[in-house]
Amino acid sequence: MSVSIEWLGFAAIALSVVAYMPQIAHLIKEHCSAGLSPRAYVMWMVSAVLLLAYSIAQDDLVFVALQSYQTAAGALVLFFCLRYKGQRCEAHGGEPLSHRLKQSQGPVLTQPANPS
Ligand SMILES: [Zn+2]
Repeated sequence: MSVSIEWLGFAAIALSVVAYMPQIAHLIKEHCSAGLSPRAYVMWMVSAVLLLAYSIAQDDLVFVALQSYQTAAGALVLFFCLRYKGQRCEAHGGEPLSHRLKQSQGPVLTQPANPS
């Protein structure tokens, strides 16, 4: 690979990193998996792993870096997508996170004020 055009590949990787950030941030901050398909992310990850193997075999540094990132980002999205499966933020028609967190803790158990 020519060093003079390698910067194009790394610029594309930087854009890929930036492109994933809003999705990942929303997923983690809001515990919202609206519109995310775990099956699709499994396929994206398998694709990224296969392309990573191919890139390693081809000794292509740009695509090794890109597919390594795609695999890691896909795994992160898949993990949180499964963890927050079925949860939606207010913007996506769900309840506020604080309400969902209270519901997941269950009823508050109180002790009698004056046990005898
Ligand atoms: Zn949302």
